[in-house]
Amino acid sequence: MSASDRAALFTESGCETNNTKSAKERRAGCPKPKPGGTSGGCTFDGAMITLVPIVDSAHLVHGPIACAGNSWDSRGSLSSGPTLYKHGFTTDMTENDVVLGGEQRLFDTICEIVERYAPPAVFVYSTCVTAMIGDDLGAVCASAAEHTGVPVIPVEAPGFLGNKNLGNKIAGQALLDHVIGTVEPEDAGAFDINLIGEYNIAGELWDVLPVLNRLGLRLRACISGDARYRDVAAAHRAKATMVVCSRALLGLARGLEDRYGIPWFEGSFYGTSAMADTLRGFARLLDDDDLTRRTEELITVEEAATNAALEPYRARLTGRKAVLYTGGVKSWSIVSALQDLGIEVVGSGITKSSDGDVEKIRELLGDAKMIGEGSPRELLRVAEQTGADILVAGGRNLYTALKGRLPFLDINQERHIPYAGYTGMVEFARRLDMAISNPVWDQVRRPAPWDAQVAGTPGAPGTLVAGVA
Ligand code: SF4
Repeated sequence: MSASDRAALFTESGCETNNTKSAKERRAGCPKPKPGGTSGGCTFDGAMITLVPIVDSAHLVHGPIACAGNSWDSRGSLSSGPTLYKHGFTTDMTENDVVLGGEQRLFDTICEIVERYAPPAVFVYSTCVTAMIGDDLGAVCASAAEHTGVPVIPVEAPGFLGNKNLGNKIAGQALLDHVIGTVEPEDAGAFDINLIGEYNIAGELWDVLPVLNRLGLRLRACISGDARYRDVAAAHRAKATMVVCSRALLGLARGLEDRYGIPWFEGSFYGTSAMADTLRGFARLLDDDDLTRRTEELITVEEAATNAALEPYRARLTGRKAVLYTGGVKSWSIVSALQDLGIEVVGSGITKSSDGDVEKIRELLGDAKMIGEGSPRELLRVAEQTGADILVAGGRNLYTALKGRLPFLDINQERHIPYAGYTGMVEFARRLDMAISNPVWDQVRRPAPWDAQVAGTPGAPGTLVAGVA
């Protein structure tokens, strides 16, 4: 990938933040990664996250085996059928390949994969090592595609380019350049839609699809969650696109608009009010009176049913306080879901949020509740100061919460519970209630028996408190 291609990815015109910058700031592009910036996932990792949920395709890592291990199955992105995406294919580069070049090994590996697994396509990812030794990924992929008759897509996102976010962008660009528009569907319809940035974590997509289907909306391509190669290749025939959870993929949405005239909007599936906004967003873009009417009717029916199901949880959750620490669109869409349940969000992290996300948090919560630093000490300080009842955050914060004897709910991509859509909202409330009401918290917050004083023998080590056997 040339320097000018990379610069174009950093100056996305579909991004509101970029559009409010001065000409000089825009020329400088988005903030460049600082040393250590890949510790949250490198560019290669970001590209894998975006494309691996194309579940019927082979995903081949051209590099040392450790790169493949680093990125394999890092998200709970589920498939309703094919499992080829779970195979960790790699060229497993050795010192000899570094000296002599890895192009032949790459070509042979692609041919072997096609022969043994017959995938509809092979995605090939470069890594730091293969980019540095100068293997020509594009040329090998083109030659292997010609030899095998199967599309072979080069994804040139070596880790040293920057962070995960850049990898998402490069993956989106690879789809635009090599995949989308290569298959013409025979059944294109007026209400075909694309989802971008929906990864089907814990099967969340399957809770949302029935709602969309009831409106007559058909999912043409989900990029990428439970996706099939041919559906993604036919994404250019959709009539509207929703960007679900990734500002990094705005460029893909804008590219679909520029090249194929598909309008797009940003939305979320978390919480009843966000779901209503999302359904109205599709109705607005598809611009059909009957769809608009049916959308309003469906929202009324679904909200009534969801509110009835939420009633017992609301009674127990209203007035509770939560500290939220997550990134991206979730940092504000989960605020809205918590507020729908009557929970007060007493702090929300912004370290992983874009300017646009921060603006939305500010609208919902005000400046005072934004947490600029996400260290365990700071999260516990905020929780203690505000009297929070729960920490809602990514899995890596679990032990922070346990050390602070604070209930915890995992909200990030590693989780196994779906929270999207109307049914997901009820599950979200149920899990919050289970976490907060768990009797273990009363027990762990009591002084330990050995810290309690027995009358006559204050603080004697090993002394049992009366009544505690
Ligand atoms: S691509 Fe580079 S930074 Fe990423 S895992 Fe491989 S060696 Fe590490």
